[in-house]
Amino acid sequence: MRTEEPRTIRLKDYRAPDFRISKIDLDFVLDPEATRVAATMKVRRTGNKSASLTLSGEQLKLLALRIDGKDLPENSYRTDAETLIVDSVPDEFVLDIFTEIAPASNTSLEGLYLSKGIFCTQCEAEGFRRMTYYLDRPDNLAVFTTRIEAGKTKYPVLLSNGNLVRSGELPEGRHFALWSDPFPKPCYLFALVAGDLGYIEDEFATMSGRKVALRIYVEHGNEPKALYAMDSLKRAMRWDEEKYGREYDLDIFMIVAVSAFNFGAMENKGLNIFNDKVLLASPETATDEDYARIEGVVAHEYFHNWTGDRITCRDWFQLSLKEGLTVFRDASFSADMRSAGVKRIEDVKFLRMRQFQEDAGPLAHPVQPQSYITIDNFYTATVYEKGAEVIGMLKTLVGNDGYRKATDLYFARHDGQAVTIEEWVKCFEDACGRDLGQFRLWYRQAGTPTVEAIGAYDAGTRKYALTLKQTVPPTPDQQEKRPMQIPVRLGLVGRSGGALPLTLEGENAIGPEERVLELTGAEQRFVFVDVEEEPLLSIGRRFSAPVHFNAPMAAADRAALMSRDGDPFNRWEAGQALATDVLLEMADTAKSGIAPRPDPIYVDAIADVLAHAAEDHAFAAEMLVPPSEGELALKMSPADPVAIHDARTALIRGIAEKHREPFEVLYRNLDSGDPFTPDAASAGRRRLRNVCLRYVSAEDTDASARIAEAHYRSATNMTDMIAGLAALSRMDWPERETAFTDFHDRFAGDPLVLDKWMGLQAGSPLPGTVAQVRALMKHPAFDMKNPNRVRALVGAFSANHLRFHEADGTGYALVGETLRDLDPINPQVAARMAAALENWRRYDDARQAQMRAELEWILKRPGLSTNLFEVATKMLG
Ligand SMILES: [Zn+2]
Repeated sequence: MRTEEPRTIRLKDYRAPDFRISKIDLDFVLDPEATRVAATMKVRRTGNKSASLTLSGEQLKLLALRIDGKDLPENSYRTDAETLIVDSVPDEFVLDIFTEIAPASNTSLEGLYLSKGIFCTQCEAEGFRRMTYYLDRPDNLAVFTTRIEAGKTKYPVLLSNGNLVRSGELPEGRHFALWSDPFPKPCYLFALVAGDLGYIEDEFATMSGRKVALRIYVEHGNEPKALYAMDSLKRAMRWDEEKYGREYDLDIFMIVAVSAFNFGAMENKGLNIFNDKVLLASPETATDEDYARIEGVVAHEYFHNWTGDRITCRDWFQLSLKEGLTVFRDASFSADMRSAGVKRIEDVKFLRMRQFQEDAGPLAHPVQPQSYITIDNFYTATVYEKGAEVIGMLKTLVGNDGYRKATDLYFARHDGQAVTIEEWVKCFEDACGRDLGQFRLWYRQAGTPTVEAIGAYDAGTRKYALTLKQTVPPTPDQQEKRPMQIPVRLGLVGRSGGALPLTLEGENAIGPEERVLELTGAEQRFVFVDVEEEPLLSIGRRFSAPVHFNAPMAAADRAALMSRDGDPFNRWEAGQALATDVLLEMADTAKSGIAPRPDPIYVDAIADVLAHAAEDHAFAAEMLVPPSEGELALKMSPADPVAIHDARTALIRGIAEKHREPFEVLYRNLDSGDPFTPDAASAGRRRLRNVCLRYVSAEDTDASARIAEAHYRSATNMTDMIAGLAALSRMDWPERETAFTDFHDRFAGDPLVLDKWMGLQAGSPLPGTVAQVRALMKHPAFDMKNPNRVRALVGAFSANHLRFHEADGTGYALVGETLRDLDPINPQVAARMAAALENWRRYDDARQAQMRAELEWILKRPGLSTNLFEVATKMLG
């Protein structure tokens, strides 16, 4: 909790610590109300001769302190709410610290806490200091041993990092386990789990032939639901060996699933802890999306073993060093496991919705932030997703071989170290012989650049001149921006459909059909020769840079690219751009009170998508979904939620009406009747069929309600059930109520499935949704102390663009109240959910005033956390 004006921490103030702790032995005697922690540390002075020893610690009861075995008198040290300071210590000594903590009353879910009777820890970023006083900073690497002692009946499983050394019985029904992790690590990678858990077990033979035991621990009864995660883990381990030459290093790798967790999952060395939402799956309870997410998150956390654990961050300003890189690695893995094109589309959609929005608002910050009040607030889409895009651009610039050479050098040079983003970039320069001076701006400059492309064709000379101009917008802390180095992948498409060779002026050989231009100046001109006809420009293929590619084009040309571009990503992109233009025009019409009609050029172009749907189901499904209301809001000023919703609904109905028969045929034919398998091809078929359902039930009629209900009733897996319910959630017909009640009763005992049920109701466009969400907050399954429940209901509601932005302000009030109630319980999650209010300036005056008022009330709350203080202040600033 905040007691005074919070302190800002700056990258430029970084200093190496004056002391190093190279070894720590921990002893936990577990008790929900009073856990005793004994820590024995080997400390050595490495800096200033006269410096006092300063360790971080929060919410600790200090019982005793010893140096080299001798009790320290109370006048030789001092503590405050955040630190322990010991003056005049020797240059080398053994420090014993005895503390007591209360895991049962820890609702912030940082440090050691209880989740449904299971002890577990979350130390990243600064949770370790809630167990003992320590150098809680990532640049102090130590070897850990951990002894855990607890009652055997309630806590038969005792886990920590590394390999199990010993375990045994103790008097009075107690037992212990001793774990040793030989790899030096920062304390944010420490983990402990104790509880009554079941597990599944498997084995992996590494590329050098070592056998590694694999275990996934879950609540009893959930063991079968961990099989897909185990399968994903083994595939990820093999993939990292093949693609990066990285082998696993301990004798055992463990994952534990817990119910109450602030993040998705955590990469603690050898003992990953997962939010059960991204680990448990069965066809009856998980959707295809859940399966894909589990595969991706299991891989992500496993990949951290090298990019995060073996090589870690020097300080938290380097967070993207491990996160951007590991997100890039897990995205490449998923692309290899599934459809690479569809994975790219999904990632770009997420980037635009979350990161572009962040980059354009009051919370904009560079991939490497320069300052923070609390680092918890910088686990952002910019650090993660834009950070991953930066790695992708590096790979584009140096090529596949150069990329592998650079990462090999990085692992060889920095294994066992805490390093900086600068050292990462240096490996690329050294391995590939390139100067990346300008490229480094991607880490330092916030804001999404715009690349404007103007092409001019001269039929006489058969030359096509392409002018590229870049602008980087000012952001709150940076008014002046320099031009960036932007890889622009492009192709030229002939009017009749074929790709045209890209030969630059001055080249002797005929060029390739796709190439990457490097835009480094504010404006550059590229001239292509021997261009047979006036081409269509296909720019930013596979989204080669996280920028707005802006190429003005006639609607007919966009429609042509939508069906003929050689790059599937850009076919989708052309469709989205065309749909956006059409929808924004419709929204303008809707604003003036006239029922909007869609431009036939987009509606007609859908015929071609339907005709080729069989070639790639998952891709066709993406092509058939117009930009979301949230995406459209980013392009309209001021954004009008009602007009946007009306326009999008009218477009979907227009498409449904025009192509009724092919949609019905596809919908029928895609129903294979085969038993469920989670593979990408089957998931793609289900996805397309469920998108077709959206169209065949588009009209607000009883017939539509019956189609949706029949879809729900006949579903044999969660994906199809949810699609049926989602369709019903948009309708005010009796079938809606019956199906929702049926679903509730069927899954009443499964909180993760009820989360979906709550989320669908919170996302409904029907009036009365605000009241419905308020009612659901009183449902027995809702729990303010469990982040999954809060995100499923209130998080889903704040993503409901129409109802969150209700004109009377009731949507804002609901979210504002929840944030104020949640903050004292879990400040990290409250601060992250506050992002709902981030874009308040994009709306009309009345809505602006209401959102601003919510933020002001938040700031007036007594005892407000630094987390929420930091984001709310910046949003208003
Ligand atoms: Zn991560």
